[in-house]
Amino acid sequence: MWDYLIKNGFVVDGTGAPWYKADVAIAGDRIEDINAGLPVSGADTVIEAKGLVVSPGFIDMHSHSELPFIAYPTADSMVHQGVTTQFTCQCGTSGSGPLKGEALKAVQGRAKDWGVDVDWVTLSEYMERFERQGCSINGAFQVGHGTVRLCVMGWENRAPAKSEMEEMKGLVAQTMEEGAFGISTGLMYTPGNYADTEEIVELCKVVGEYGGIHTSHRRRRGWVNEPRGGRDFIATTIDSGRWSIREVIKIGEDAGIPTTWTHAKACGKVNWGEALAEWLGDIDFARRRGVDVGIDVYPWIYRGAGFFGFPNWAEEGGRERLVERLKDPEIGGRIRSICKYYMETLIAEESWDDSIILYAGEGNDDLIGKSYAAAAEMRGVEPIDLVIQSFIDGEPIRSIGHAMSEDDLRTILKHPLTMVSTDGSALPLDYPRMVHPRNFGTFPKILRKYVRQERLMPLEEAIKKMTSMGAAKLGIMDRGILRPGFKADVTVFDPLNVRERATYFDPKQLPEGIEYVLVNGVVTIERGVHTGALAGKPLKHRSAKE
Ligand SMILES: [Zn+2]
Repeated sequence: MWDYLIKNGFVVDGTGAPWYKADVAIAGDRIEDINAGLPVSGADTVIEAKGLVVSPGFIDMHSHSELPFIAYPTADSMVHQGVTTQFTCQCGTSGSGPLKGEALKAVQGRAKDWGVDVDWVTLSEYMERFERQGCSINGAFQVGHGTVRLCVMGWENRAPAKSEMEEMKGLVAQTMEEGAFGISTGLMYTPGNYADTEEIVELCKVVGEYGGIHTSHRRRRGWVNEPRGGRDFIATTIDSGRWSIREVIKIGEDAGIPTTWTHAKACGKVNWGEALAEWLGDIDFARRRGVDVGIDVYPWIYRGAGFFGFPNWAEEGGRERLVERLKDPEIGGRIRSICKYYMETLIAEESWDDSIILYAGEGNDDLIGKSYAAAAEMRGVEPIDLVIQSFIDGEPIRSIGHAMSEDDLRTILKHPLTMVSTDGSALPLDYPRMVHPRNFGTFPKILRKYVRQERLMPLEEAIKKMTSMGAAKLGIMDRGILRPGFKADVTVFDPLNVRERATYFDPKQLPEGIEYVLVNGVVTIERGVHTGALAGKPLKHRSAKE
């Protein structure tokens, strides 16, 4: 006896093959059969899917959900989009461990915002917590390079000593054995930006011993980082962007593991068009010589969600040191002029005008939804001073900004290597702060805008980018495709009606047209409504030690 029979749908199986009409039978947490005319009498419950597409549950290849999974286990913003698995711990930060010293402190600080008590220091302990609480979707985790560096070296801007390198390698190995799928780097952020390429390669070699992958937020766009020198050197050419892509490739090539340019985007007008084409050309060429490079992208032209105009040296030693420097008349003045210069040239990710403030600290709710320029005018200051003051007040301003071009986004999305990601978190509808709409509308937006309206690619191609490509990248061999024997992560949607409702100014809106979502064989969205089911699992990489 099957638990469910999904009848009469258009099966888009995730491989890229054209749709076919069939019924999908599910028993327990697995797909039991896919065939035309399966008997209704064989199932406890029949889900009528006439006119609807039945696809594998979507896999979000870039997210920051390890703390939100614990804070908001119903994962509303994601499961309503049809997401059944999120690959998280991106950009060098793994809130799921390993944690000690400054890494533990940093995660405790963030967890406070989410109302989460951190009672884990390893990925294993985190997974126990995840299972104990339950979660509506599956999580796949990584070891964050920045997190590991914080564990061992704190906020120091220098190369690791030999013993420190050994300790970092040990933490990476341990976390891989506990089930991580790879290592993420955030080479734009402190402390990731203090590491040189060799350090990352060394750690990636450890990940390679377990068959894991590397994902990277590339180095600061438009800035040439001086990991050791700390000079205020701003490159006004596109070369630094290309160099940062080549670094991502080099890491994969030298370490001999798959590498990913994750949440791919060409930020800053100087990088639009030609520069992006060069970067993609470099990636194509790397593939041809045998380097396994991947790409994922979110379908929005606004980035989010903080101010990243500070030069590297200004952030050495952590947030408190940054604030001390900002307060110092001479050093603070120097930082101010660098940031101002950065924001007012073509290398800037966005302009003071083309931005939307999400959060500006207590007592400043009237600035939410305004641009930096408008907000500064309201306060009678220059935009840069509004930003600096927010850091000094201990409540750094958060914003999204128009940093990317629509043409580039289409180019990236269409690229055969590109998978889909949100760069978002699993959030509830009543989440107290304004957020980027990618948290609520990413997958439906692709189905509405780029598949149905613009016909940028066939539906089957888009679904492949949302499902089997991610599963293959992660080495998950029983998800991402609808096939008998595979886990029953299934999304059923209306291809003619599916759409995001989240917008830049009104982001916390659930999409329309995602009718059913099953996670591990359990109905979690039923006719567009969350059932409250918590059937998600913390997934473990194949080489995890039980
Ligand atoms: Zn990132």
